[in-house]
Amino acid sequence: MINQPPPLLGWDVAAYPPLLEALECAGAGWYADELHRLGRLAGGAQAQGWAVDADTNPPVLRTHDRAGHRIDEVDYHPAYHQLMTMIIDAGLTGGPWTAGFAPDDAAPGAAHAARAAGFFVWCHTELGHGCPASMTHAVIPALRAAPELASQWEPGLVSRVYDPTLTPPATKPGLTAGMAMTEKQGGSDVRANTTAAQPTADDMWRLTGHKWFCSAPMSDVFLVLARAPGGLTCFLLPRVLPDGTRNAVRIQRLKDKLGNRANASSEVEFADALAWRLGDEGRGISTIIEMVVATRVDCVIGAALTTRHAVAHAVHHVQHREAFGHRLVEQPAMTNVVADLAAEAEAMTAVAVRLAAAFGRAQAGDERERLFARLAVPVSKYWTTKRSVAAVAEALECLGGNGYVEESGLPRLYREAPLYSIWEGAGNVQVLDVLRAVVRTPDAVDIFLEEVGLAAGGDARLDAAVAELRRELHDDAQLEYRARRVSGLMAAVLQGSLLVRHAPAAVADAWCATRLDGGHDLFGTLPEGSDTSVLLDRATPARL
Ligand SMILES: Cc1cc2nc3c(=O)[nH]c(=O)nc-3n(C[C@H](O)[C@H](O)[C@H](O)COP(=O)(O)OP(=O)(O)OC[C@H]3O[C@@H](n4cnc5c(N)ncnc54)[C@H](O)[C@@H]3O)c2cc1C
Repeated sequence: MINQPPPLLGWDVAAYPPLLEALECAGAGWYADELHRLGRLAGGAQAQGWAVDADTNPPVLRTHDRAGHRIDEVDYHPAYHQLMTMIIDAGLTGGPWTAGFAPDDAAPGAAHAARAAGFFVWCHTELGHGCPASMTHAVIPALRAAPELASQWEPGLVSRVYDPTLTPPATKPGLTAGMAMTEKQGGSDVRANTTAAQPTADDMWRLTGHKWFCSAPMSDVFLVLARAPGGLTCFLLPRVLPDGTRNAVRIQRLKDKLGNRANASSEVEFADALAWRLGDEGRGISTIIEMVVATRVDCVIGAALTTRHAVAHAVHHVQHREAFGHRLVEQPAMTNVVADLAAEAEAMTAVAVRLAAAFGRAQAGDERERLFARLAVPVSKYWTTKRSVAAVAEALECLGGNGYVEESGLPRLYREAPLYSIWEGAGNVQVLDVLRAVVRTPDAVDIFLEEVGLAAGGDARLDAAVAELRRELHDDAQLEYRARRVSGLMAAVLQGSLLVRHAPAAVADAWCATRLDGGHDLFGTLPEGSDTSVLLDRATPARL
């Protein structure tokens, strides 16, 4: 075949220097061998085949059996189950919560950084199954608010066995978890939730109401927000009750979504469904926020890996395709575009692993890292998930017409990208959360500035941007109106600081030259003199 690039198959997804360097920075270099194992699997034909099958054969809801009894089951293609088996077996759900995932002497937070890198690599297969995997990982810190429930549920949730059957949880070798917060009349504003909870005589609660979005409805257990007499409360709701009967969870329909098609996202009704209270009555938001923080970190990882995956395809294509007598990668306008995209993917990767390490350290009791994450997570969730939509679109265009065709894999990534920005709180909700932290938790601002200040003197453009950020933060006028500007600047200086400190000078230089003016919308605007060869070398997929 003349001038048609070979498919990007048979590569080691993990052989990506920015990821391996971030892993080292987080003290998780010991994970590299496992990461390469996952990388070779994820970049191989078999796993990529599962990904296509799971995506193109979406789940099907069966509400009733042939005799008319409600069953509320979702059938998935075998490829989805295969992907779930692999991600759970690799410890990318429960691993970091267990002994043995990391060496005994691993640095605090390193296990979570390793898991983030593993998730980044493995989800180069497909992102739909990443949703239940993410929620199963994220439920643990919230669950620990009720030690008795945690002792019953945690062993199954951190297990490395995938068991998709709807059978009593206590009999299963492995469990998965979901969450149900969003209602028709209130998504971001969960205070508008109307699902009601009434206590029963035997220390359980009966939940009645609907949830407008409930992904992975075949999960074994869900964290649900409902209104108890004492206010909005978090509940732990099993799909199958301990006696083996099905809980009264009616799956009304599955959403017909833009992307993320392998994952079922449903509308559900609770008809006196039984649940246990998790955390204090009336403290539902602060209980479930423990889970939400973890899934927000996964949104950043999702944005980073989607961008990296798309950029890998773009770089691969332009290295093989010729036009007007030269390979595309050698044509200056294209060199600039792919190098610029590569810088974006690097910055996202660095911040994603940094956040996962902060999350892990905070879980281990590190107050400084908790405060750092308090701002760095919503700031980065807002920024990276927005940037990835534009980056994936640009990467798709690098493949020309082929990029618009399903077989290239780019349309799947393109459909996936906007989701990270919406779920777990859309862009405005993130930036308003940033403002809340700025106003109510001044220590978090100090620690955030201290972190970005670690790169002080390394790049004058970064220093100027940090000075500008300080001015923005001290100006109270119309702060809410300026929320995106302030959050975007915070995200940019954080990424810049990480690159200046840890990436090769050429990467940091290219990035700082174009991202620190707060208005960098299009790719391919690196200034003359940027060392694009370093960026392109590091972005080239390592074919086996
Ligand atoms: C595929 C998919 C799967 C999902 N799975 C789940 C799930 O498993 N469990 C679950 O609970 N939810 C789930 N969700 C729901 C998701 O978390 C919500 O859709 C999201 O949080 C936004 O809420 P909303 O749709 O009600 O939008 P709204 O809250 O109505 O927001 C609409 C827009 O208004 C903006 N906005 C909101 N408040 C303000 C404000 N004060 N100022 C300025 N702008 C504002 C938002 O940023 C957004 O852009 C899922 C969503 C999708 C798309």
